[in-house]
Amino acid sequence: MPALWAPHLQALRRHAALIDLVRRVARLALDPQHLGFAGYHGDVLESYEAMLDARCDALASICVHAGEETNEWRALATPIVLASAFSFDDGGHAAAAFRGDNDAYIYGRWGNPTVEALEAKVAALENAQAACATASGMAAVSGALLSICEAGSHIVAPRSMYGESARLLRERLPKLGIETTFIDEPSPESYAKAATAKTRVFYIESPSNPMLAVADVTGIVAAARAHKALTVADNTFATPFCQTPLDRGVDLVIHSMTKALGGHGDAIGGVMAGSEERVAVARDTVVKGFGGVMAPLTAYLVARGMVTFALRQRRACSTAAKLARALVAHPSVAKVHHPSLLESAGLGRGLHAYGSILSFEVRGGRDAARRVLERVRVITHAVSLGDARSLITHPATTTHASMPADARARANITGGLLRLSVGLESSVDLERDLLNALAHEGD
Ligand code: PLP
Repeated sequence: MPALWAPHLQALRRHAALIDLVRRVARLALDPQHLGFAGYHGDVLESYEAMLDARCDALASICVHAGEETNEWRALATPIVLASAFSFDDGGHAAAAFRGDNDAYIYGRWGNPTVEALEAKVAALENAQAACATASGMAAVSGALLSICEAGSHIVAPRSMYGESARLLRERLPKLGIETTFIDEPSPESYAKAATAKTRVFYIESPSNPMLAVADVTGIVAAARAHKALTVADNTFATPFCQTPLDRGVDLVIHSMTKALGGHGDAIGGVMAGSEERVAVARDTVVKGFGGVMAPLTAYLVARGMVTFALRQRRACSTAAKLARALVAHPSVAKVHHPSLLESAGLGRGLHAYGSILSFEVRGGRDAARRVLERVRVITHAVSLGDARSLITHPATTTHASMPADARARANITGGLLRLSVGLESSVDLERDLLNALAHEGD
């Protein structure tokens, strides 16, 4: 028998890359801690599947029913009310509506039943008292900050974050007298160190776009309170399936609902969620004042997508962990970023699940990454994320191209980095597609 194995072993020894691969696979198989699911015994992925099932069960009924309970016609599907204005009974009714003494609808920018149904669904998922839908995720990001800051205010934010949000903080808000200090490491200590007497907001994006850095949200909230600052968290990457920041003391949560909440790649929208008081101020600023209102048809599409939100996330999170594991073991992949791979990102960091987005660095830099993008067949080469389709993009030349090169380098967004948003396709097809696209790299 040993003689039969000998030639194979010799061949293996000649191929350092293959040996490396075998070693990594063996380590993955033997070491349940490798995926970072600290506290889980037995088969790690099985434990993770149970955790995903539990989270899905916790949210599934909310997704189906919240915000859909009542309407005048008892229609099961939320009606799309397109009216831009609503009629009054008489002058007194109109005047009372304007004073806020009744809850009559007045004008579409101030309130709309279809949009309110969506807001109720998001509020229920985020454990928020209230939510306010906006025209896009960026309307929510900019509006949330403008509802808190004024000329002279200061913000502390992580360097690794969505490119357009970073540009807002770096280029646009300074024109209004609002300055930001960017920190390399999103730790409570770094936030505290960067804070000044003028700091109004500790801005959080966790896991971050595209590096999937997981922040200690509870620690950052405590640091913000010590500095009398508020916390605003962009929860787009985590989604309420994986993380509910308000439960950990965050003041305002924002989302690009264009992504996993809508989930079908057919609507642009955003939302801000938090206390009644905080959301009322944000709504007054963003929607009423700056006009970043969500259209009723968009609200309908997003709310319909959200009916299956928990089911979609359950599946996509499961597949993402499997793909992260496959990529870690691949010799052409230098690094994989997914919260499941971080020891420190376990339940202690307050994540209910590790998310459906990952990024990885292909050995061979930008050219190698481009070749991978061009070879995928099941995965679609496009920006955006949280879609039913798996989407892959090259952050350095797309979503984060507007970042100055040195800031990109400091955020570790290299030429070889690819971001993968895992969709609902078969995990077997996706893994095969990735392995096929990577097959000739590192030859
Ligand atoms: N926040 C994050 C983390 C994002 O990834 C994006 C868009 O990709 C946005 C905000 C902006 O959302 P929208 O494109 O809906 O304006």
